[in-house]
Amino acid sequence: MPSCKDLYDKWRNAVSEATKDHKHRYTCALFKKDQTISDTEQTNRCICGRLKNSHSYKGELSSYAGDRWIMTDCSGRIDDGISCGILYKWHQACLTKFLRCDINIPQKALYDLICNDYGKKPNLIISIFGGTKNFKMDKHLETAFMNGIIEAATSAGGWILTAGLNSGVVNLVGQAISEAKVMHCNLKNIVSIGFTKWGSLSQDVRDLLSGKFRKQLHPENNDPISELYTYPPEMLGSNNQQTVESHHAYMLLFDDATQYGYLGDHQPTQFLEEALKNKGNTNCYTITVIVEGGLNTPYTIRRFLEKNLPVVIIRGSGRMADIICDFLTPDAEKQNQGGAEKKNSEQGVSEKRRLRRRPKDVCQRDKENYRREIQ
Ligand SMILES: [Zn+2]
Repeated sequence: MPSCKDLYDKWRNAVSEATKDHKHRYTCALFKKDQTISDTEQTNRCICGRLKNSHSYKGELSSYAGDRWIMTDCSGRIDDGISCGILYKWHQACLTKFLRCDINIPQKALYDLICNDYGKKPNLIISIFGGTKNFKMDKHLETAFMNGIIEAATSAGGWILTAGLNSGVVNLVGQAISEAKVMHCNLKNIVSIGFTKWGSLSQDVRDLLSGKFRKQLHPENNDPISELYTYPPEMLGSNNQQTVESHHAYMLLFDDATQYGYLGDHQPTQFLEEALKNKGNTNCYTITVIVEGGLNTPYTIRRFLEKNLPVVIIRGSGRMADIICDFLTPDAEKQNQGGAEKKNSEQGVSEKRRLRRRPKDVCQRDKENYRREIQ
């Protein structure tokens, strides 16, 4: 069995090879490292999201004076900006391989990196969109979703793509992987990949990860191996939504030099398209799964349908997924569902009761916004 150091070296070498033409990334150039900041401005934030005295840039400052951060005007290039590492959750035998890279790195480089590291191309890619912060699904549907995702991934040699953050449906996928690892011994075949923005993570998590990456690259003699390659406990808080989901096999952290906001669907979609272009000797299929979702969800769905890629919308997962399912359901079927709901209501498991547990105002607001938008 390879040691942690062997696994780290293998990952580091694979990253170096895959990113040899894309080693740069960008950082905010509105303030620089060691710049003198007045006492009154010490706690003020730059428009990139950092404290004004927390910038690492060392080059020539930008003269931009606007109030909205724009990459072309506000950033400076760091030529050796790729960083990577590995972290274990020993008691669950979970290993995550991390890569922090420029947000515009070609997805081909990342697809090749994971294919080469894993040693095999995917037969199926299941990409999961939606279901972030306040997401809550009915228990029966939740169990069916978790079982279905794992079964599809294990039986078809599939890869799972998620948003990578420790919240909502990504948490469910992590739980499903964890439980399946306990139940089955062949789960090393599951490849789960988180697509996350570096700036979506909390400052503490970014500092912890940067520290681990740095120490793994330049270990000191007295660093205990078990600690060097272990998830810091501070990153594993179940209520912390600004950390990574720790059961994923790969975590791709895209850096756009800001410290706010979330990654859109561009990167995972491009990754999928790269997989379809690189079938090689195998047939790779894709399924996009929409869970809950918000105002951007219809655009995500359209993007995949325009490329003739199948989309599965989970009815009952809430918000936009339910609105779209409602639009797509013929009236006769709705009446049948109404009858079934009435019957369920009499049995004490009505859909209405389940919906009452949802943040009703959020659901209603999304419906109204969407209806206004499509008029
Ligand atoms: Zn800044």
